[in-house]
Amino acid sequence: MILYQVHHMWYETSMIDECWHSVLGELKSAPGVDVKIKICFNFQTYIEEPEVKDVKVLLQKHQNHPLFKDYDVDVTIKTDDDPFYNIADWRREVYDPQAKYTVWGESDTILPRDFFAILDKVEIDQPHVLTFAGRPMWDNTWDVVTHEKLLGYSKPCQCGEEHRKDCIELLEAPLKYKDYITQKELDKFNEESGDIKLSQVPWKIDGSTVCISKGMMTPFIAPGMHFVREDTCLEYYLRKKNIPQVCVTTDLRDIITNILIKELVLVLLETIRYLNSMQILVSQPCKNL
Ligand SMILES: [Zn+2]
Repeated sequence: MILYQVHHMWYETSMIDECWHSVLGELKSAPGVDVKIKICFNFQTYIEEPEVKDVKVLLQKHQNHPLFKDYDVDVTIKTDDDPFYNIADWRREVYDPQAKYTVWGESDTILPRDFFAILDKVEIDQPHVLTFAGRPMWDNTWDVVTHEKLLGYSKPCQCGEEHRKDCIELLEAPLKYKDYITQKELDKFNEESGDIKLSQVPWKIDGSTVCISKGMMTPFIAPGMHFVREDTCLEYYLRKKNIPQVCVTTDLRDIITNILIKELVLVLLETIRYLNSMQILVSQPCKNL
């Protein structure tokens, strides 16, 4: 069984439809794979107040989504009747040590088409986390988890008058971190990618679509941590315990920002065409970190 879990804040409402359609599409692409879905709707207004009168309408409008029609989704509701609660609490609590993987979804994420089928096929016989390569992000320290077709760009842009030859700003859309990418574009990129390769990478974790294997000791997020940097907390935990991070280096996971609506979209790209010839390149533990 694979557990897909995601925490939605009310102010993420406009991203939910696309997120759930992607999850639904990937479930339909892997009909034989046992996937359990747990969603938290968080209506809390301790930090921000909505402009609408009733905050609940921001999530209620999604209740007829086909994801709920076709699948048995386990829903948790958090309100101001509960103590302050956020994504780090959710990610700390909602881990199933028996599930093959517990997947951290995010509101701003769409998944590669064969995501669940890949998780079903991968066999790594020890506690680990599986992540997916991304588009070029933030700065060059993220190159270790960047899709191999998108390496070689320097970031962030610090060029001044004219862009350097390798400046990230010269990478065509939708492959820059700030470009919006659709499911169709994501699927196309993945179809055009080569064989799936997995390799152990130096620990480098951001929270979107981290797949945590069964058998992990808990907690891997500090008790009392509510949000922000819980992904870094997991990274420190993995380093300290020497638990490997394995990255699907030919699958693209990307962050796309539309600054105007303050929405951040993380996207994964993958291909499964050559799944049967998947290379698993788990090498030596990363000793120099
Ligand atoms: Zn530049």
